[in-house]
Amino acid sequence: MLNIPELKGKIKHSSIAVLTSGGDAPGMNAAIRAVVRYACSYGCDVYGILRGYSGLLEQEFVPLGLSSVANIIQRGGTILKTDRCEDFFKKSTRKEAARILQSRGIGGLVVIGGDGSFTGAHLMEKETGFPLIGVPGTIDNDIAETDDTIGFDTAVNTAIDAIDRIRDTASSHNRTFLVEVMGRSSGFIALQVGMGGGAETIIVPEKKQSIEKISSTIQRGMKRGKSSSIIVVAEGPKPGLSYHLANDLTQRGYNCKVCILGHTQRGGSPTTHDRVLASALGASAVAYLLSGRSNAMAGIQNNQIKLVPFRSVIGKKKQISTPLFKLSQILSS
Ligand code: ADP
Repeated sequence: MLNIPELKGKIKHSSIAVLTSGGDAPGMNAAIRAVVRYACSYGCDVYGILRGYSGLLEQEFVPLGLSSVANIIQRGGTILKTDRCEDFFKKSTRKEAARILQSRGIGGLVVIGGDGSFTGAHLMEKETGFPLIGVPGTIDNDIAETDDTIGFDTAVNTAIDAIDRIRDTASSHNRTFLVEVMGRSSGFIALQVGMGGGAETIIVPEKKQSIEKISSTIQRGMKRGKSSSIIVVAEGPKPGLSYHLANDLTQRGYNCKVCILGHTQRGGSPTTHDRVLASALGASAVAYLLSGRSNAMAGIQNNQIKLVPFRSVIGKKKQISTPLFKLSQILSS
């Protein structure tokens, strides 16, 4: 059962703002809706900032009320738009951002984004004391100290749907398909999708596998009468890794095809899971902010909402589950 932190006593801010930053993720709209409606339920004014930190610096503020966030819970992307803002890497720019917020009477900011957005938020609070709370929104699920991030479940379900379709054509043509999913430095999507899609092999950045090992897994399956295989590949540092692997496998005599799912995994209507998660985290971020907390992320651990200081989150590597990875290897053999 999800716990929403209790807000006792007088609220600390009468006006707050919310922005989405970095990579977009399905469910960000549900989080924005929760921020706005939860804050409104305490009589607090809410401003949406367009295009992340870029819009903050260019003062693109829109007042948000109960009806501004009607009919968005089911929509992918972010109604506030998102951006990457190079200028925010500068201390002077972050100082200017805090000054802009203060000049508008805004007392706190909710930042919905990933590790990079939290780094910017952490530095800004450290340098200016401006209150900020983060909400983890990224399809990669690679943020430390939270079991789950907004958008991960939707991305996984989108990819599973594609894999189920690919399996039909792979088995009709007796082919090996390499399906490349997102995940530059982490294999969370690949592992979940590979496990759920019954992939024969899962390639993740965390567990290196030689081409010989991949080839012998396919070979073993063939000996048992399997005529087709699905290999799920996390893209790694540079999208297109699966083309290199396909080349190597083709040279070893396998009939290989590649399908890169790419940005299809970012779009689409969020799953119920992501909508509920986003609603709980968005409301919790407001509860923490209005009770005077700052410089931290509203995350989820063992199905409980937790406030985790940014310093314990930023730049920390979250590990994929080794038991789940081993199990995927046993079940696919
Ligand atoms: P995400 O939040 O999805 O990880 P990015 O890493 O692209 O996405 O970060 C989003 C934005 O956060 C950047 O464009 C920049 O404005 C800000 N940001 C990222 N890293 C830093 C940093 N080290 N210092 C200050 N701001 C940062």
